Amino acid sequence: MKLISIVVPAYNEEANILSMYEKLVQEFHPLPYEYEIMFINDGSSDGTLQEILKLAKTHADVKYISLTRNFGKESAILAGLHRIKGDAAILMDSDLQHPPELIGQLIDGFEEGFHQVVAKRSRTGDSKLRSFLSSLYYKFVNSVTDVDFVDGEGDFRLLSRKAINSILLLSESNRFSKGLYSWIGLSKKIISYENVQRVAGTSKWSFWSLVNYGIDGIISFNLKPLRVCFYTGFLVLLLSLIYIGVTFYEILKEGVGAPGYFTTITAILFLGGIQLISLGVIGEYIGRIYNETKRRPNFLIDISNADDYDES
Ligand code: UDP
Ligand code: MG
Repeated sequence: MKLISIVVPAYNEEANILSMYEKLVQEFHPLPYEYEIMFINDGSSDGTLQEILKLAKTHADVKYISLTRNFGKESAILAGLHRIKGDAAILMDSDLQHPPELIGQLIDGFEEGFHQVVAKRSRTGDSKLRSFLSSLYYKFVNSVTDVDFVDGEGDFRLLSRKAINSILLLSESNRFSKGLYSWIGLSKKIISYENVQRVAGTSKWSFWSLVNYGIDGIISFNLKPLRVCFYTGFLVLLLSLIYIGVTFYEILKEGVGAPGYFTTITAILFLGGIQLISLGVIGEYIGRIYNETKRRPNFLIDISNADDYDES
Protein backbone atom coordinates (compact mmCIF):
# COMPACT_ATOMS: atom_id res chain seq x y z
CA MET A 1 0.00 0.00 0.00
CA LYS A 2 1.21 3.50 -0.78
CA LEU A 3 2.08 5.80 2.10
CA ILE A 4 0.66 9.31 2.12
CA SER A 5 2.27 11.83 4.46
CA ILE A 6 0.27 14.80 5.65
CA VAL A 7 2.45 17.77 6.53
CA VAL A 8 0.84 20.14 9.00
CA PRO A 9 2.71 23.22 10.24
CA ALA A 10 1.30 24.60 13.48
CA TYR A 11 2.01 27.88 15.19
CA ASN A 12 -0.13 28.56 18.25
CA GLU A 13 -2.91 26.20 17.19
CA GLU A 14 -3.60 24.36 20.46
CA ALA A 15 -7.35 24.61 19.90
CA ASN A 16 -7.13 23.01 16.46
CA ILE A 17 -4.67 20.11 16.70
CA LEU A 18 -7.06 17.51 18.05
CA SER A 19 -9.94 18.28 15.69
CA MET A 20 -7.51 18.42 12.79
CA TYR A 21 -6.21 14.97 13.69
CA GLU A 22 -9.67 13.51 14.06
CA LYS A 23 -10.81 14.92 10.73
CA LEU A 24 -7.76 13.52 8.97
CA VAL A 25 -8.18 10.05 10.44
CA GLN A 26 -11.85 10.08 9.50
CA GLU A 27 -10.94 10.98 5.90
CA PHE A 28 -8.28 8.31 5.63
CA HIS A 29 -10.30 5.56 7.23
CA PRO A 30 -12.13 4.42 4.06
CA LEU A 31 -9.14 5.05 1.77
CA PRO A 32 -6.86 2.16 0.75
CA TYR A 33 -3.72 4.00 1.78
CA GLU A 34 -1.36 4.03 4.67
CA TYR A 35 -0.83 7.48 6.09
CA GLU A 36 1.30 9.37 8.55
CA ILE A 37 0.48 12.78 9.96
CA MET A 38 3.51 14.98 10.47
CA PHE A 39 2.87 17.91 12.78
CA ILE A 40 5.53 20.58 12.85
CA ASN A 41 5.37 22.76 15.92
CA ASP A 42 6.79 26.05 14.72
CA GLY A 43 7.92 27.43 18.07
CA SER A 44 4.41 27.91 19.44
CA SER A 45 4.08 29.77 22.73
CA ASP A 46 0.79 28.09 23.68
CA GLY A 47 -0.01 24.43 24.33
CA THR A 48 0.37 23.27 20.72
CA LEU A 49 3.35 21.06 21.44
CA GLN A 50 1.63 19.45 24.45
CA GLU A 51 -1.40 18.69 22.29
CA ILE A 52 0.80 17.06 19.66
CA LEU A 53 2.78 15.05 22.23
CA LYS A 54 -0.43 13.83 23.81
CA LEU A 55 -1.63 12.58 20.43
CA ALA A 56 1.71 11.01 19.51
CA LYS A 57 1.78 9.04 22.75
CA THR A 58 -1.31 7.07 21.85
CA HIS A 59 -1.33 7.13 18.06
CA ALA A 60 1.43 5.61 15.97
CA ASP A 61 0.26 7.53 12.88
CA VAL A 62 1.26 10.82 14.50
CA LYS A 63 4.79 12.03 13.79
CA TYR A 64 6.07 15.35 14.97
CA ILE A 65 8.91 17.79 14.75
CA SER A 66 9.25 20.67 17.14
CA LEU A 67 11.42 23.57 16.02
CA THR A 68 13.55 25.51 18.49
CA ARG A 69 11.70 28.76 17.78
CA ASN A 70 9.25 30.25 15.30
CA PHE A 71 10.91 29.92 11.88
CA GLY A 72 7.83 30.69 9.80
CA LYS A 73 5.44 28.47 7.90
CA GLU A 74 7.69 27.94 4.89
CA SER A 75 10.55 26.63 7.01
CA ALA A 76 8.19 24.49 9.08
CA ILE A 77 6.87 22.83 5.93
CA LEU A 78 10.41 22.30 4.69
CA ALA A 79 11.36 20.66 7.99
CA GLY A 80 8.39 18.34 7.56
CA LEU A 81 9.26 17.48 3.96
CA HIS A 82 12.75 16.47 5.07
CA ARG A 83 11.40 13.96 7.56
CA ILE A 84 8.44 12.30 5.86
CA LYS A 85 8.62 8.94 4.15
CA GLY A 86 5.48 9.05 2.01
CA ASP A 87 5.15 8.27 -1.67
CA ALA A 88 3.32 11.57 -1.72
CA ALA A 89 2.87 14.47 0.69
CA ILE A 90 -0.20 16.59 1.29
CA LEU A 91 0.52 20.02 2.76
CA MET A 92 -2.26 21.40 4.94
CA ASP A 93 -2.85 24.24 7.40
CA SER A 94 -3.75 23.17 10.90
CA ASP A 95 -6.70 25.55 11.25
CA LEU A 96 -9.04 23.42 9.11
CA GLN A 97 -9.11 26.09 6.43
CA HIS A 98 -7.89 23.44 4.05
CA PRO A 99 -10.87 21.06 3.96
CA PRO A 100 -9.73 17.47 4.66
CA GLU A 101 -12.66 16.30 2.49
CA LEU A 102 -10.50 17.12 -0.52
CA ILE A 103 -7.85 14.56 0.36
CA GLY A 104 -9.57 11.88 -1.73
CA GLN A 105 -9.57 14.13 -4.81
CA LEU A 106 -5.95 15.08 -4.27
CA ILE A 107 -4.94 11.45 -4.12
CA ASP A 108 -7.02 10.69 -7.23
CA GLY A 109 -4.95 13.28 -9.08
CA PHE A 110 -1.80 11.62 -7.81
CA GLU A 111 -3.01 8.23 -9.05
CA GLU A 112 -3.72 9.78 -12.45
CA GLY A 113 -0.01 10.48 -12.55
CA PHE A 114 0.22 14.17 -11.70
CA HIS A 115 3.22 15.26 -9.65
CA GLN A 116 1.48 18.25 -8.12
CA VAL A 117 -2.21 18.36 -7.35
CA VAL A 118 -3.17 21.84 -6.23
CA ALA A 119 -6.30 22.70 -4.29
CA LYS A 120 -7.16 26.19 -5.42
CA ARG A 121 -9.37 28.28 -3.20
CA SER A 122 -11.92 30.90 -4.10
CA ARG A 123 -11.87 34.18 -2.23
CA THR A 124 -15.39 33.99 -0.79
CA GLY A 125 -15.44 35.46 2.71
CA ASP A 126 -12.34 37.57 2.18
CA SER A 127 -12.87 41.29 2.48
CA LYS A 128 -13.55 43.10 -0.81
CA LEU A 129 -10.42 45.17 -0.33
CA ARG A 130 -8.22 42.16 0.25
CA SER A 131 -9.53 40.30 -2.81
CA PHE A 132 -9.12 43.40 -4.92
CA LEU A 133 -5.57 44.04 -3.73
CA SER A 134 -4.63 40.39 -4.25
CA SER A 135 -5.94 40.26 -7.78
CA LEU A 136 -4.08 43.48 -8.54
CA TYR A 137 -0.96 42.05 -6.97
CA TYR A 138 -1.08 38.82 -8.97
CA LYS A 139 -1.58 40.72 -12.21
CA PHE A 140 1.44 42.84 -11.40
CA VAL A 141 3.64 39.98 -10.24
CA ASN A 142 2.90 37.90 -13.29
CA SER A 143 3.78 40.76 -15.55
CA VAL A 144 7.13 41.43 -13.88
CA THR A 145 8.40 38.01 -12.82
CA ASP A 146 9.63 34.98 -14.68
CA VAL A 147 7.49 32.33 -12.94
CA ASP A 148 3.73 31.97 -12.86
CA PHE A 149 1.85 32.75 -9.64
CA VAL A 150 -1.86 32.01 -9.51
CA ASP A 151 -4.22 33.66 -7.04
CA GLY A 152 -5.69 31.11 -4.65
CA GLU A 153 -3.05 28.49 -5.25
CA GLY A 154 -1.39 28.25 -1.89
CA ASP A 155 0.38 25.55 0.03
CA PHE A 156 -2.63 23.25 0.07
CA ARG A 157 -1.45 20.66 -2.41
CA LEU A 158 -0.24 17.15 -2.95
CA LEU A 159 3.35 16.58 -4.00
CA SER A 160 4.59 13.33 -5.46
CA ARG A 161 7.86 11.87 -4.17
CA LYS A 162 9.57 13.31 -7.20
CA ALA A 163 8.17 16.78 -6.50
CA ILE A 164 9.15 16.51 -2.83
CA ASN A 165 12.71 15.59 -3.76
CA SER A 166 12.83 18.45 -6.24
CA ILE A 167 11.72 20.92 -3.59
CA LEU A 168 14.32 19.52 -1.19
CA LEU A 169 17.03 20.17 -3.77
CA LEU A 170 16.38 23.89 -3.51
CA SER A 171 18.42 24.94 -0.52
CA GLU A 172 17.90 28.69 -0.67
CA SER A 173 17.10 30.32 2.61
CA ASN A 174 14.82 33.02 1.26
CA ARG A 175 11.96 30.71 0.48
CA PHE A 176 8.93 31.88 -1.41
CA SER A 177 7.15 28.58 -1.79
CA LYS A 178 4.61 29.61 -4.43
CA GLY A 179 7.53 30.45 -6.63
CA LEU A 180 9.38 27.24 -5.79
CA TYR A 181 6.40 25.04 -6.67
CA SER A 182 6.16 26.77 -9.99
CA TRP A 183 9.92 26.73 -10.56
CA ILE A 184 10.32 22.93 -10.23
CA GLY A 185 7.85 22.40 -13.05
CA LEU A 186 6.39 18.84 -13.33
CA SER A 187 2.83 18.02 -14.27
CA LYS A 188 0.12 19.80 -12.32
CA LYS A 189 -3.59 19.32 -11.80
CA ILE A 190 -5.87 21.89 -10.20
CA ILE A 191 -8.98 21.23 -8.17
CA SER A 192 -11.08 24.04 -6.71
CA TYR A 193 -12.74 24.56 -3.38
CA GLU A 194 -14.70 27.25 -1.58
CA ASN A 195 -12.79 29.34 0.92
CA VAL A 196 -13.44 28.39 4.55
CA GLN A 197 -13.02 30.54 7.62
CA ARG A 198 -10.60 29.49 10.35
CA VAL A 199 -12.18 27.31 13.06
CA ALA A 200 -10.31 28.59 16.13
CA GLY A 201 -7.34 30.77 16.96
CA THR A 202 -6.25 33.74 14.87
CA SER A 203 -4.52 34.27 11.55
CA LYS A 204 -0.80 35.01 11.75
CA TRP A 205 -0.94 37.42 8.86
CA SER A 206 -0.98 41.13 9.58
CA PHE A 207 -1.24 43.80 6.93
CA TRP A 208 2.49 44.40 6.92
CA SER A 209 3.43 40.75 6.84
CA LEU A 210 1.27 40.44 3.72
CA VAL A 211 3.01 43.42 2.16
CA ASN A 212 6.42 41.92 2.96
CA TYR A 213 5.31 38.58 1.56
CA GLY A 214 4.29 40.40 -1.60
CA ILE A 215 7.71 42.02 -1.95
CA ASP A 216 9.38 38.64 -1.43
CA GLY A 217 7.32 37.24 -4.26
CA ILE A 218 8.45 39.92 -6.65
CA ILE A 219 12.11 39.93 -5.67
CA SER A 220 12.74 36.23 -5.10
CA PHE A 221 12.01 35.13 -8.58
CA ASN A 222 13.55 37.51 -10.99
CA LEU A 223 16.03 40.14 -11.86
CA LYS A 224 13.56 42.27 -13.74
CA PRO A 225 13.28 45.02 -11.10
CA LEU A 226 16.98 45.68 -11.61
CA ARG A 227 16.32 46.01 -15.30
CA VAL A 228 13.34 48.30 -14.71
CA CYS A 229 15.67 50.57 -12.73
CA PHE A 230 18.13 50.55 -15.54
CA TYR A 231 15.54 51.49 -18.15
CA THR A 232 13.94 54.14 -15.97
CA GLY A 233 17.33 55.64 -15.27
CA PHE A 234 18.13 55.58 -18.96
CA LEU A 235 14.84 57.25 -19.88
CA VAL A 236 15.29 59.95 -17.27
CA LEU A 237 18.80 60.61 -18.45
CA LEU A 238 17.59 60.93 -22.03
CA LEU A 239 14.78 63.31 -21.05
CA SER A 240 17.10 65.51 -19.04
CA LEU A 241 19.60 65.62 -21.89
CA ILE A 242 16.85 66.79 -24.24
CA TYR A 243 15.73 69.30 -21.67
CA ILE A 244 19.26 70.61 -21.22
CA GLY A 245 19.72 70.89 -24.97
CA VAL A 246 16.47 72.80 -25.48
CA THR A 247 17.12 75.17 -22.58
CA PHE A 248 20.67 75.79 -23.73
CA TYR A 249 19.40 76.63 -27.19
CA GLU A 250 16.84 79.05 -25.74
CA ILE A 251 19.51 80.73 -23.62
CA LEU A 252 21.71 81.17 -26.68
CA LYS A 253 18.81 82.69 -28.59
CA GLU A 254 17.10 84.82 -25.97
CA GLY A 255 19.50 85.14 -23.07
CA VAL A 256 18.92 84.03 -19.47
CA GLY A 257 15.30 84.59 -18.47
CA ALA A 258 13.86 83.57 -15.10
CA PRO A 259 16.31 82.48 -12.39
CA GLY A 260 15.31 78.82 -13.03
CA TYR A 261 14.95 77.87 -9.43
CA PHE A 262 11.89 75.74 -10.09
CA THR A 263 13.40 73.66 -12.86
CA THR A 264 16.60 73.05 -10.93
CA ILE A 265 14.84 71.84 -7.88
CA THR A 266 12.48 69.62 -9.93
CA ALA A 267 15.37 67.96 -11.67
CA ILE A 268 17.20 67.32 -8.41
CA LEU A 269 14.15 65.86 -6.73
CA PHE A 270 13.23 63.75 -9.70
CA LEU A 271 16.67 62.30 -10.17
CA GLY A 272 17.05 61.85 -6.44
CA GLY A 273 13.89 59.81 -6.42
CA ILE A 274 14.97 57.60 -9.25
CA GLN A 275 18.34 57.05 -7.65
CA LEU A 276 16.83 56.12 -4.33
CA ILE A 277 14.50 53.61 -5.94
CA SER A 278 17.37 52.03 -7.83
CA LEU A 279 19.49 51.88 -4.72
CA GLY A 280 16.63 50.28 -2.87
CA VAL A 281 16.23 47.56 -5.46
CA ILE A 282 19.95 46.89 -5.56
CA GLY A 283 19.94 46.81 -1.77
CA GLU A 284 17.19 44.18 -1.82
CA TYR A 285 19.28 41.90 -3.96
CA ILE A 286 22.44 42.48 -1.98
CA GLY A 287 20.53 41.73 1.20
CA ARG A 288 19.43 38.44 -0.28
CA ILE A 289 22.94 37.59 -1.42
CA TYR A 290 24.09 38.32 2.11
CA ASN A 291 21.48 35.98 3.54
CA GLU A 292 22.32 33.18 1.14
CA THR A 293 26.05 33.43 1.71
CA LYS A 294 25.56 32.80 5.42
CA ARG A 295 24.27 29.35 4.53
CA ARG A 296 22.33 29.08 7.72
CA PRO A 297 19.94 26.16 7.97
CA ASN A 298 16.30 27.03 7.37
CA PHE A 299 15.25 25.53 10.68
CA LEU A 300 16.59 23.85 13.81
CA ILE A 301 14.88 20.88 15.38
CA ASP A 302 14.35 20.73 19.09
CA ILE A 303 12.61 17.36 19.51
CA SER A 304 11.09 14.89 17.07
CA ASN A 305 9.79 11.35 16.84
CA ALA A 306 10.46 11.00 13.12
CA ASP A 307 12.70 8.00 12.54
CA ASP A 308 15.57 9.27 10.51
CA TYR A 309 16.27 12.10 12.89
CA ASP A 310 20.02 12.04 13.25
CA GLU A 311 21.22 15.59 13.80
CA SER A 312 21.49 16.94 17.30
N1 UDP B 1 2.04 28.85 10.63
C1 UDP B 1 3.29 28.37 11.01
N2 UDP B 1 4.26 29.29 11.35
C2 UDP B 1 4.05 30.63 11.31
C3 UDP B 1 2.77 31.09 10.88
C4 UDP B 1 1.80 30.17 10.55
O1 UDP B 1 3.53 27.17 11.05
O2 UDP B 1 4.96 31.39 11.63
C5 UDP B 1 0.98 27.88 10.26
C6 UDP B 1 -0.32 28.06 11.02
O3 UDP B 1 -0.31 27.35 12.23
C7 UDP B 1 -1.34 27.48 10.05
C8 UDP B 1 -0.74 27.84 8.69
O4 UDP B 1 0.64 28.09 8.92
O5 UDP B 1 -1.41 26.08 10.14
C9 UDP B 1 -1.42 29.03 8.07
O6 UDP B 1 -1.39 30.13 8.93
P1 UDP B 1 -2.58 31.15 9.05
O7 UDP B 1 -3.86 30.41 9.26
O8 UDP B 1 -2.21 32.14 10.09
O9 UDP B 1 -2.58 31.83 7.63
P2 UDP B 1 -3.87 32.24 6.76
O10 UDP B 1 -4.75 31.03 6.69
O11 UDP B 1 -4.53 33.36 7.49
O12 UDP B 1 -3.30 32.62 5.44
MG1 MG C 1 -5.46 30.01 8.19
